[in-house]
Amino acid sequence: MILIDEDTQKDFMLPAGALYVAGAERLIPVLARLFEAARARGVPVLSSVDAHAENDAEFAQWPAHCVAGTTGQQKIPETLLAERAVIPNRAGVEIPEGALQVIVEKQTLDVFSNPNFQRLLELYPDDECAVVGVATDYCVRCAVEGLLNAGRKVRVVTDAIRAIDHETGEKLLAQWEARGAALTTSNELWT
Ligand SMILES: [Zn+2]
Repeated sequence: MILIDEDTQKDFMLPAGALYVAGAERLIPVLARLFEAARARGVPVLSSVDAHAENDAEFAQWPAHCVAGTTGQQKIPETLLAERAVIPNRAGVEIPEGALQVIVEKQTLDVFSNPNFQRLLELYPDDECAVVGVATDYCVRCAVEGLLNAGRKVRVVTDAIRAIDHETGEKLLAQWEARGAALTTSNELWT
């Protein structure tokens, strides 16, 4: 199994964040346990992070958030492992070996927009992908649907994701399940 961690950054996760996903801070204890378990079991973690420029095109649609170098752009400490590497959104970046956590930078909703994400996934061709993070109806959606489109086995950890619009989130879970994704809870994940 590999863990796919979407955008668990301060601007999304914390009530004071620039694009706070309401209720996301309640995921933090769940995420802390999941990351501790991943570390203890040597489960690779692929994390996405928004890393925007100050006048990023995305800010036409969304309030400014996750500007590179700001506190809000940082990941919450609960989803950071000691052994980690950061991969910028540039073609031809060398993929680090030996880091348990690889953090993939992006400037849009979709982690697949960083071409290195696909290369990272190919390091684990047969592993099931357990998806956590925010927001269910935006960046998590891009990740889950991209993984399903790529033919990957997907588990969505329902107590470790949060939607901006609850109803949309529930509909998406049903759609993903119909496409073959497994819905699971953080406690069931390792059993
Ligand atoms: Zn963004």
